[in-house]
Amino acid sequence: MSDIFGKIIQRKISADIVYEDDLALAFKDINPQAPTHILVIPKQLIPRLSEATNEDSALLGHLLMTAKKVAEQENLADGYRVVINNGEQAGQSVDRLHLHILGGRRLSWPPG
Ligand code: AMP
Repeated sequence: MSDIFGKIIQRKISADIVYEDDLALAFKDINPQAPTHILVIPKQLIPRLSEATNEDSALLGHLLMTAKKVAEQENLADGYRVVINNGEQAGQSVDRLHLHILGGRRLSWPPG
């Protein structure tokens, strides 16, 4: 787990962790793009969504349900967005699958 998010899972790098279970971890983004900006990651290494397999289906569902749970915990009842950047052209900068939860302000559409 030499990637930066792997080091957060291992507590080798500190992060503001808001949720953890056996399969997933959620922590505040270090460079928030909204008043609430949280990342949800699987503890199992999946570099990007396009590399997920059918065997990962339950885990992917779990990550979405974790996003829902964290959004409730963070009082985002007015609305929030869940984003996955897949690949360089989409702006993925960390090679471990992560869901962005963005909320706390009105979000424009389409995203840039
Ligand atoms: P992406 O560009 O979709 O790969 O998203 C990566 C996100 O990880 C960015 O929003 C970064 O601000 C965030 N990030 C990078 N390093 C850290 C860190 N050490 N702790 C929290 N968030 C981080």
